[in-house]
Amino acid sequence: MKPTHPDHAPPADAAARRAIKPVICYPVETLPRPDLAALRRARAGWTKTAEVIVPAREANFFEVPAGSFFRIVSIDGPQVGDLNLWSLQDLNERFYSGKTRALHGTHLSTGDQLWSSIPYLRPMATITEDTLDWYGIDEHGGSVHDVIGTRCDPYTHHLLSGGETYHHCCHSNLTRALAEETGLMKHACEFHVHDVLNVFMCTGFTRDTGQYFMKASPVRPGDYLEFFAEIDLGGALSACPGGDCSSEHSSDAAACYPLKIEIYRPQDRPEGWGSPAQNGYDRTHGCDLD
Ligand SMILES: [Zn+2]
Repeated sequence: MKPTHPDHAPPADAAARRAIKPVICYPVETLPRPDLAALRRARAGWTKTAEVIVPAREANFFEVPAGSFFRIVSIDGPQVGDLNLWSLQDLNERFYSGKTRALHGTHLSTGDQLWSSIPYLRPMATITEDTLDWYGIDEHGGSVHDVIGTRCDPYTHHLLSGGETYHHCCHSNLTRALAEETGLMKHACEFHVHDVLNVFMCTGFTRDTGQYFMKASPVRPGDYLEFFAEIDLGGALSACPGGDCSSEHSSDAAACYPLKIEIYRPQDRPEGWGSPAQNGYDRTHGCDLD
């Protein structure tokens, strides 16, 4: 955090330096864009192929073939979900929250894509419907579906609580779900768990101190976030122990509800759509050595 009383006096031209207009780091005008209308048309006559319930304070694994859709649905009460995504063929290719944020902003909605990690860096999923898109950005700078948080985890909780142990943080829930699915040891699995898309969570940064904040999610039963799978996906979703994240997480204090995942297969692949190839950069990094 920035000091209230800086050690160093501002220079004579401080005001001029501060007044410089910002430029967007990653203008996305040249980014290949999904044909959202074609994706949405492909929903007509689709078939629901699976439903997965994520119990409160637990996580569950699910699979979505490339070309299918999945929805994360609020069912019994306001509840935040922490989402991890991997390539079904290679756990090393996983959702890259930081680059997704750099490209699409701090909070995602319809038309935004979830990008995979370097060196793959391609769209893993495209958001095709967001029933909370009406929320926008509130007076506190808060919004929903962020890629600025990480995931609640027992290590940070251990540090902040003076040594307490809690086993149902999203990091642990996602680790158990992946271990049960893959048969990998839990210690191996936790290295595959990564920064999440915070589905339905309402977050921002305080304007005065720049601190990460959360507030009660506006999600209500019936709301959903819908994705189109650009590649074969393995996903894990945790129903965060923070519930609607209005007070605290990393404990059993908050009211918590399950979440539902619905998977839909379209009759035909969307017009003009093909599963994206891995990133085309040649990976030489300007280096002659092997
Ligand atoms: Zn959590």
